[in-house]
Amino acid sequence: MTIKASATIEDYLGLIYISERDGEAITGTRLAELLAVSAPTVTNTLKRMVRDGLITMDVNHSPHLTPQGDQHARTVMRRHMLAEWMLIRMLSWSKVHHEAHEFEHTISDEVETALLLDLNQPETCPHGNPMPGHEAAVASWVPLTKLHAGDCVTIRRIHELAEDIPELLAYLEEKRIEPGEKVKVVDVLPFNQTVTLDVQNSLVTLGFATAKQIFVEL
Ligand SMILES: [Zn+2]
Ligand SMILES: [Zn+2]
Repeated sequence: MTIKASATIEDYLGLIYISERDGEAITGTRLAELLAVSAPTVTNTLKRMVRDGLITMDVNHSPHLTPQGDQHARTVMRRHMLAEWMLIRMLSWSKVHHEAHEFEHTISDEVETALLLDLNQPETCPHGNPMPGHEAAVASWVPLTKLHAGDCVTIRRIHELAEDIPELLAYLEEKRIEPGEKVKVVDVLPFNQTVTLDVQNSLVTLGFATAKQIFVEL
């Protein structure tokens, strides 16, 4: 990796990468919201990223990664996920994302290679999100909002955007809604925008905003 970028730029690259991977264009307004910074700050940072050849802007003012930006974003994402696996040996599941966010910017090529070997080339992060290049591994998992009453499923993935909300992760961990857990769907109520799950005989109700970030295997 020859390109050098600040931690701030790498955070932008990660979010733009996730939105492009998911086929959803991201706006400056949304970036400002996710990064908790002002709209003018986002505009200025995006201008620098255009100048540095990491992104282009389309007619709707949405950023898109250039091949160089995409390569850099994939490296950051991979290092973030490897840092999560490293930290989960010591920390609870709901805390590793936040801590890995600091680690990811300082991992070298050598440490990345060593971690990949040590961790036996994982295809996802501990929250079930795909390592760049391994999107096929998660393609068959569906969001909770697509289920029906009576479905018995295994939780597989908590989306990156949900990973970024510490209170939500702590709540999911407390309610045992985490990868590998088997749950039964009690009801899905579109008029109420809720999904209720039976998790080891206790009922948990989630709003659609959260439920659509949680993916399961049927
Ligand atoms: Zn994470
Ligand atoms: Zn993760």
